[in-house]
Order: sequence, then C-alpha cells, then structure tokens
Amino acid sequence: MKFDRLRLNGFKSFVDPTDLVIREGLTGVVGPNGCGKSNLLEALRWVMGENRPTAMRGEGMEDVIFAGTSRRGARAHAEVTLTIDNRERLAPASVNDADGIDIVRRITRDAGSAYRINGKDARARDVQMLFADASTGAHSPALVRQGQISELINARPKSRRRILEEAAGISGLYARRHEAELK
Ligand code: ATP
Ligand code: MG
Repeated sequence: MKFDRLRLNGFKSFVDPTDLVIREGLTGVVGPNGCGKSNLLEALRWVMGENRPTAMRGEGMEDVIFAGTSRRGARAHAEVTLTIDNRERLAPASVNDADGIDIVRRITRDAGSAYRINGKDARARDVQMLFADASTGAHSPALVRQGQISELINARPKSRRRILEEAAGISGLYARRHEAELK
C-alpha cells in the first residue's frame, strides 16, 4: 500500500489545516529544529491507530491536540486523514474495491478518538488490522523513532521477536487468532 497524502488539522503544532502530498520518491523532510518534522511522523502513526501516549511524546492521548500559544487559543479537536493509493488493489479485501482509502482519526477533548474508513465509522481495531496485514501500521518497523535502534539491540528476546513478526507481516494473523480464541 502506498501513502498518498496526509492531512492534519489541530494536530500538535499543525493548528491550521495542512495537506502533505506524498509524491513518489519523497525521501526527506527538512526544516529547522522544532518546525514539526517529528510531529508529521507521529501524525502518521497516530492515524494508523497508535494508542500509546509515550509513542507520541505525550502523557495522555489528548496531548496531540494543539495546546495553544500566547497568540492562539487551544483547540478542542485534532484530526488526521491518511489517504492510501489503492490503484494496485493491495489493500485487505474489506476495503479493496476503491482506488483510494481514506482513514480519518479525530480526537475530541474528554470524548476520546473516533475513526472512519472511507466515510464509515470504524473501530481502532479495524484500522490497526488494516495496516497489520500490510506490514505497515503504527508499530511498523518501517517507522523508526529516535532511540529505537538501541531499544532493539537491548530488547529481551520476546519483544525482539514481536518486532520481527511485525516486519514479516504476520502480527495481524496472531491478533486475529487471539480474538478468535476469546470468542
Ligand atoms: P527537531 O529537528 O528538533 O527534531 P522537529 O522538526 O522534529 O524538530 P517536532 O518535534 O516535530 O520538531 O515539533 C516540536 C514542536 O511541536 C515544538 O515547538 C512543540 O512546542 C510543538 N508541539 C508539540 N505538541 C504540541 C501541541 N499539543 N500543541 C502545540 N504545539 C505542540
Ligand atoms: Mg524531530
């Protein structure tokens, strides 16, 4: 699956609507310290279902909402939309009938997160599974945070195995088996 564009609104420092078109061959985002480069990657993780505040460098999930500055008030919501180019029909069967897939995550203060996949309400689980099968996703080894390499080296065998399973694209299968066993 190919990322096509990322739209942010009220997410961290991206208080105004921002539309990032991810063109073929994009290899880097450059800018001065604090301009929001890491926030962009966090938005990508977040819309794919990341639910650990620490992975978003925050204490609580609502810390992703624009917190306000001396000149601008805080926001009540943050919303990120990820559009996936599905012209090659590589998406899981449940959403594989369209050329593009829009995933929207919105968080409202005191009301938590809501997701939509192509305009339909979805659960966090649905979004996470969509990416788990494609070996991308919030915990994907394709997204390497600062400090993550040393974490991998120092990891216990069990957690290192989880990272390898994620890379091999089989963690979606494990998650489904776990759900089936609970039913
Ligand atoms: P560096 O080059 O140092 O890695 P960067 O381009 O990766 O910098 P980020 O870490 O993405 O920068 O952005 C940090 C900025 O985002 C800081 O100015 C911080 O105040 C701002 N920021 C983070 N969370 C919020 C929030 N909830 N509301 C408003 N601003 C925020
Ligand atoms: Mg950074």
